[in-house]
Amino acid sequence: MSYVDRNSGEFIEALELYQNASLLELGLLADRERWRLHPENTVTYIIDRNINYTNVCVADCKFCAFYRRPKDHEGYVLSFEAIGEKIDECKALGGVQILLQGGHNPYIPFEWYLDLLRYIKAHHSIHVHGFSPSEVVFFAQRFGMTVPEVIRELKQAGLDSIPGGGGEILVDSVRERVAKKKAQTEEWLGVQEEAHRQGMKTSVTMMYGLGESDADRIEHLFRIRDLQRRTGGFTAFICWPLQPEGTEMADMPKTNAVAYLRTLALGRIVCDNIPNIQSSWVTMGLKVGQIALRFGANDFGSLMMEENVVSAAGTTYRATIEEMERSISDAGFVPMRRRQDYSVIAAEAVCA
Ligand code: SF4
Repeated sequence: MSYVDRNSGEFIEALELYQNASLLELGLLADRERWRLHPENTVTYIIDRNINYTNVCVADCKFCAFYRRPKDHEGYVLSFEAIGEKIDECKALGGVQILLQGGHNPYIPFEWYLDLLRYIKAHHSIHVHGFSPSEVVFFAQRFGMTVPEVIRELKQAGLDSIPGGGGEILVDSVRERVAKKKAQTEEWLGVQEEAHRQGMKTSVTMMYGLGESDADRIEHLFRIRDLQRRTGGFTAFICWPLQPEGTEMADMPKTNAVAYLRTLALGRIVCDNIPNIQSSWVTMGLKVGQIALRFGANDFGSLMMEENVVSAAGTTYRATIEEMERSISDAGFVPMRRRQDYSVIAAEAVCA
């Protein structure tokens, strides 16, 4: 367990920068860090598909418009065959990865997840980026297992890497207010650390705008930077704002593009040991997504075929592969397709 000293010089300095530096100064510092880590004039992206295997959930996160309570007639669990068809469609578009996540469904036995992974691996050559830390903690509690056991069994069945979903703000006072039934800070970070210990790479996220303070956001960044110092297992950091529409937090004021760019830039500056930062154009739109490429982001995220969770709140953007590549080119970079581990697929640039 690590502890963030909010009175330390570097914490106060980061807070001061976040609150008082001009937008362009923050962007300049983040852009400098981006070029130090990625001296090439390229921006990567991935073609993958988000598959939400169930929307039934007992976590009741206040910011979630996607889930349905058990017994709700709109609740679903996808069959293996339906998941297989979605993977085929993803591969037909050149997809190399699926993002497999779902609600905390109390009716699914652990063997179902293992069988699903085995089924996918038997029928498809595709990278399975699946089961966020919150799901892993839910599995451990539900099935009376330890977190290392859950990860080991999922990995043996075919899980390739773990996404950073459910990170929100890694400060317990915030989590207790908005998502008290799911993994709290130490548990969430503990899954990440254990996954890294077992040789898996993972991503890490931050969803802000939950009524947290600026200091809470900085504590979140310090916590993930500290873990990265111990393990080096994070491949990327992704942040986006709360989409309050249709949720219990619908009254929360929406944050704007400037808040996004400032937060993204601070993420790049503070987390200087996490190699990649994604632009979150799916929530911010392609224009802000392009600007993000000058505020620390070196990756354009994914095509996100079938994004369900954020879009349930009604405010997401979609684009074709051509539009994504065009956005990257128009921002002055060469688009490159990548795999989950950020290795580039095509030798030459993919031109729009
Ligand atoms: S965010 Fe995830 S864990 Fe929370 S209610 Fe929605 S589906 Fe459940």
